[in-house]
Amino acid sequence: MTLDNILTGRFYNLKLRITVLLTILLIMASNNALASTAPVQLNEAERQWLKAHPSIRLAVDIDWSPFEYIDDEKQYVGMAAEYIELVAEKLGIEFAVEKEKPWSEVVESVKSGELDMYSCVVSTVQRREYANFSKPYLSFPMVIVTSDQVAYVNGLKDLRNETVAVVRGYATHDLLEKNHPDLELYLADNVADALEELSHGKVYAYIGNIATVSDVIRREGLTNIKISGETPYSYELSMGVRKDWPEFIPILQKALDSITEQERDQIYRNWIKLRYEHGFDYDLLWKVLAGVFLVIMVILIWNRRLSSEIEKRTETEKLLNDAHHRLEKTNQQLVNYVEIVDKYVITSSTDNEGVIISASDAFCEISGYREQELIGNTHGILRHKDMPAAIYKQLWDTIKCGKTWQGELKNRKKDGCFYWVHAYISPVFDEQGIITGYTAIREDITNKKRAEELAITDELSSLFNRRHFNSLLPQELARAEREHKCLALMIIDVDYFKPYNDNYGHQQGDKALQVVSGVLRDSLRRAGDFAFRIGGEEFGVIVTVDQGEDAYRVAENLRKAVEDLQLEHGYNPASPYLTVSIGIKIHQGSGTQAPQMDLIYRLADDALYEAKGNGRNQVVRTGISQLLVQGNVSSVGSQ
Ligand code: GH3
Ligand code: MG
Ligand code: MG
Repeated sequence: MTLDNILTGRFYNLKLRITVLLTILLIMASNNALASTAPVQLNEAERQWLKAHPSIRLAVDIDWSPFEYIDDEKQYVGMAAEYIELVAEKLGIEFAVEKEKPWSEVVESVKSGELDMYSCVVSTVQRREYANFSKPYLSFPMVIVTSDQVAYVNGLKDLRNETVAVVRGYATHDLLEKNHPDLELYLADNVADALEELSHGKVYAYIGNIATVSDVIRREGLTNIKISGETPYSYELSMGVRKDWPEFIPILQKALDSITEQERDQIYRNWIKLRYEHGFDYDLLWKVLAGVFLVIMVILIWNRRLSSEIEKRTETEKLLNDAHHRLEKTNQQLVNYVEIVDKYVITSSTDNEGVIISASDAFCEISGYREQELIGNTHGILRHKDMPAAIYKQLWDTIKCGKTWQGELKNRKKDGCFYWVHAYISPVFDEQGIITGYTAIREDITNKKRAEELAITDELSSLFNRRHFNSLLPQELARAEREHKCLALMIIDVDYFKPYNDNYGHQQGDKALQVVSGVLRDSLRRAGDFAFRIGGEEFGVIVTVDQGEDAYRVAENLRKAVEDLQLEHGYNPASPYLTVSIGIKIHQGSGTQAPQMDLIYRLADDALYEAKGNGRNQVVRTGISQLLVQGNVSSVGSQ
């Protein structure tokens, strides 16, 4: 397994990957800054020093791939080895590499002066006691390696009280012992041994630099361990020179500084194979990561929206459900109301021409027509002859103005009978306020009207009774006054009715009264003509006429019509038939105060008295002395 495999494959943590990447890039950048193609510029003293020291004994780690190690052919190889080779070349010196001693012995050899220089070490405090160091020329993060069963190690604090392997004498050994006494250190001889112990579960973790770790894992084929975390430290690798050779450090530094960017690059490519050999495209990584991040964000936002949407929908659904149940209830109530209205309310609607477009069942029932017979017709189909045209004119004038008309109407049923309604007729408007039709709601007042009629009707004659006479006479007098019309009041009395009763019987007398009533009713058909039975065999008539003369004519016609009935009355000295005498008072309205009803009545009654006195079967008016019509018409002279 190469570092690249670890990075792209089993590598645990993005942050660490990026740290590695950045570190490498940083070194490359600094190398770039230092890079120079110029040859090493040495001063005379330096040149002299080199001359005096043509071969330098080099302390190396024989087993520290990829930094340095002795390969199977006993060759000193690795990154540091290549740097050493370049330095040797640039300075024109040789390095004698110690190829046998393990690391611990090598360290001792440098201390004792047996070896002159470290090729690749971390400048620790301990080492600085016996050596001087160049600036670091390699840098790698220090990582935590564990069994692949461990998910993730979040720094050194996670290793507290665990057994952690390090290589004895390595910088990690010094560093951890000093800064992290809470770690239980296991000291291995080399990286391979340490990782072997880790692989067998003997230690919990190993701490070392990422380059070596990845190299050993690959070489040893250790598949059950992995890099699980990072430390705040990194390997800063320098060259270290024995303390009594201070002159060599600046020379060495000049040589390191002169190593070009291309040369450094080449060394990295040779050993790290991170970027170039496998063509790992970090731009692409970033793009992919950005893409993945974006997708995750979109999914998260979408999820959030979805769940809030679902929440809202559930709530709305509940509300809708509730509303539905309300609505259903209301709907049912409406249906009930409509049924009730249809059944009990006499209602119809028309277009704006008055043509019926709908009619309730109640309307059909009272009128006797089927709905289909009514629709398409106007309400004229129901008009009763008793209703004056003026009422309908007033009705239409009102509703066409956009107002509601209300009033009592006598209607004619399909079978010819009548019924009375109190009607409310209203216009229907559209959104622009234009009348599109009319609706009418009616109350059946036939019974009320009947009761009212009974109250003002004389039972025997079916004419209006005395009570109605008393209430109507002053009203009609006032109207005549207002309208400047002539009102004539006639008092009509049957002549010699007592002998009629006595001789033909009371029942026959009743019949005679009914026949006379019929004559009055049939003769007085105009609006404003009224006939009353105001006493036993006494009748009152009110007629409104344009001229007084017309009233006399009406009275005389009545008198004649009764006599013309030729009802036998053998005890009537005035005629062989039943006759009547009529007294009449005419009042000309002039727009002033209406006269007292009593006065009018008395004058008419006086005239009647006159007619009786003059021989009966005649019409007498007050204040007119001459005979007005053929026969027995006279007047009461004093008025
Ligand atoms: P005159 O020509 O002066 O009017 O004489 P008259 O007999 O008609 O007048 P009178 O007032 O003396 O008599 C009226 C009679 O009318 C008395 C009564 O028997 C009769 N009469 C009154 N009411 C009724 C009625 O409802 N039915 C019948 N059959 N007779 C009635
Ligand atoms: Mg009488
Ligand atoms: Mg009489």
